[in-house]
Amino acid sequence: MSDCIFCKIISGDIPSATVYENDEFKAILDRFPSNKGHVLIMPKTHVANIFEIDPDMAGRLFKLAAQIAPVMKETFGFENMNVVQNNGPIAGQTVNHFHLHLIPRYENDGVNVSWKQLDLTDGEIEEVRAKLAGNINI
Ligand code: 5GP
Ligand code: ZN
Repeated sequence: MSDCIFCKIISGDIPSATVYENDEFKAILDRFPSNKGHVLIMPKTHVANIFEIDPDMAGRLFKLAAQIAPVMKETFGFENMNVVQNNGPIAGQTVNHFHLHLIPRYENDGVNVSWKQLDLTDGEIEEVRAKLAGNINI
C-alpha cells in the first residue's frame, strides 16, 4: 500500500525503532508513545484490520506478543500492561495497517484505556447473546 505509513516503515522508506522482526512481523517502538516502551507489532504484509487479517496470522502475531511482553516487563521493570488493538476510525484506529499496542503500565501513569459501562438488564444481555451465538458457526 503506497500511502500506508507502516508499509513505508516495513519497506525501510521511513525509519523506525525496530525491536524485533522476522519474516512475517515487525515490532517497533511507537513514535508517539503513551508510555516509554510502548511497542507496536504488525504484519509485514498490508492487512487493514481484524476483519481482514487471516486468523492464523493473528494467532502467530499474538503468540509473538506473548513472547515479547514478558521481555518488556523484565527490561523496563513494570508490573502491568494493556494490549490494545483498534479497528476503524470510530474505534480510534489512525493507521490503517493492523497493529497491536503493547503498553507498559505504571502506578498513576495517567494513561487512559477505558470506557463507560452500560448497565443492561438480564433480558437485554440474553437478547444480545442469542443473536450473536446463533451466528457463530466456527
Ligand atoms: P492506532 O491509533 O491506529 O491504533 O495507532 C497508531 C499508532 O501509530 C499511534 O500510537 C501512533 O503514535 C503511531 N505512529 C504514527 N505514526 C508513526 C510513525 O511514523 N512511526 C511510529 N513508530 N509510530 C507511529
Ligand atoms: Zn500497510
